[in-house]
Amino acid sequence: MLAELLLQWPLIRQLRGGGDGTGEEAMSERSRALRPKNEPAQVARSICPYCGVGCGQLVYHRDGKLLSIEGDPRSPISRGHLCPKGAASYELVTHPARATKVKYRAPRARQWREISLDEATRMVAERVWATRARTFDQRVMHTTGMAHLGGATLDDEENYLIKKLFTAGLGMVSISNQARI
Ligand code: SF4
Repeated sequence: MLAELLLQWPLIRQLRGGGDGTGEEAMSERSRALRPKNEPAQVARSICPYCGVGCGQLVYHRDGKLLSIEGDPRSPISRGHLCPKGAASYELVTHPARATKVKYRAPRARQWREISLDEATRMVAERVWATRARTFDQRVMHTTGMAHLGGATLDDEENYLIKKLFTAGLGMVSISNQARI
C-alpha cells in the first residue's frame, strides 16, 4: 500500500526510471490519458509561405475544414517553432474580420465603397500604365514616378512575380515590403 503510494510520487518515478522530470515520470493518470486537441484530425505537412526561412507547419483539417496550423517539430529548420507571422497563419485564413472585398475611396471622397476585383484591377492597370508613360526616363531606362509597397503576408511566389513584373517589366526601381519597415 505504502509502496503503491510512493510510486505515484513523480520524484520516486524519476529516481527509479531516470529522465529529467519533464517526461513520462511527471505524468499523472489524468495527464497520461489526455489526447492531442486535434485528434483524430488529418494532418498535412507544409512550409510556411511567408519568407525564405521555410519553417515547417502542420496543417490540421477534418471534413474539408481547417482546424489549426502549428509548428512542425520534425522540421530541421524550425523544430516546431513559428515566428508571430507564421503562428498567425490560421487566423489569417479564418478570422471573421478578414477583408474579402476591395474598397475604393475616390479622390476627395469621405466614404469608401466596395468595388469588384475586376474593376479594381482595371483601375490600377490604367493608372500604372499612364504613370509609366508619363515618367519613364529613356536615358536610364527606369521610372521613379511610382513605387510598390508589398504586404508582409505576401508569399515568396507573389514577391517573385512583383519584382519580376515591376522592375524587369515596367522599369520601377522603388520596390519594398512592409516586413522591412
Ligand atoms: S514562420 Fe516566420 S520565419 Fe518561419 S518561414 Fe514563416 S514568416 Fe518566415
